[in-house]
Amino acid sequence: MDSNIKSVGVLTSGGDAPGMNAAIRAVTRAGIFNGMKVYGIYRGYRGLISDEIIEFKTNSVSNIIQQGGTMLKTARSSEFLTEEGRRLAYENMRKHDIEALVVIGGDGSLTGAGIFANEYNIPIVGLPGTIDNDLSGTDTTIGYDTALNTIMQSMDKIRDTATSHERLFFIEVMGRNCGYLALNSAVASGAEAAIIPEISIEKDQLGELIEQGFRKSKNSSMVLVTESEVTGGAIKLAERVKTEYPQYDVRVSILGHLQRGGSPTAQDRILASRMGIAAIQALMENQRNVVMGIRENEIVYVPFKRAIKKDREISEEMLNVLRISSI
Ligand code: ATP
Repeated sequence: MDSNIKSVGVLTSGGDAPGMNAAIRAVTRAGIFNGMKVYGIYRGYRGLISDEIIEFKTNSVSNIIQQGGTMLKTARSSEFLTEEGRRLAYENMRKHDIEALVVIGGDGSLTGAGIFANEYNIPIVGLPGTIDNDLSGTDTTIGYDTALNTIMQSMDKIRDTATSHERLFFIEVMGRNCGYLALNSAVASGAEAAIIPEISIEKDQLGELIEQGFRKSKNSSMVLVTESEVTGGAIKLAERVKTEYPQYDVRVSILGHLQRGGSPTAQDRILASRMGIAAIQALMENQRNVVMGIRENEIVYVPFKRAIKKDREISEEMLNVLRISSI
């Protein structure tokens, strides 16, 4: 069980997500607790290439657990997509004697981590940091619960105006090709429907909703839409309603980046703390190329290749809950 790893670097990459700070804190403290040197790498892979690397002590991560965003900053790095970029990154790791990495990010960051790990035989462990909840092999990701709560609170406010003006609202949320945020926030906020990529690809969800007359008995309607090429997005859907069904008073609200911000919920802080400590544990067990996941409230190790596989199915049960509870 004893690991030979004496030093570890931690970075956040891709889109920021609430709870990343709690994860950085847990990784740092667990590394130091287990006798390792811990290095904070700023601005993701970009900072690994440009040598923005600082040794962390326990108090380097004080007073951050409650903060959204990431104190390590995050970035997208086109240089890391190249062999030359990754070579520079590896040279900086050697320069600082960093033997292993913990990468906190979404599917792109983990894809890059897998390539880098294989190229240079480096132990790398990932933490799923993304509000989209679009990784496979884990029930949830760091940041998802906070984003869900932020959307729900925004929806409660939109409902006031939707009801007062008897309007139909399309509310666009993040998620890319994954409808988890839209579907679950629709249930949590009592919305009428969620137009999500997983279903839109099979059928015309909007057409079906209109055919059903939205909620005939209600004086307002709120429909969640995942921002995605497959759904077309909220603006396109609203335009379609305006031309095809002019009797509806339609409005659009795009929640945008406010979904990413804010203080993480207790659930995200706890998840990030557990996963951060588990990541160091995994390195000590000589695990590599795995992402920390959570299944049935237990931490599991998910191989990178599995985690980034886009085969996560939307829950039939949740679709049913929305369908029945919104009649
Ligand atoms: P989010 O889901 O929030 O967008 P993400 O981690 O998926 O986060 P990306 O922009 O896709 O965000 O990826 C972040 C960074 O990971 C990229 O800027 C790049 O440096 C690196 N990366 C992504 N894909 C690869 C790849 N195929 N090879 C090497 N590096 C990659």
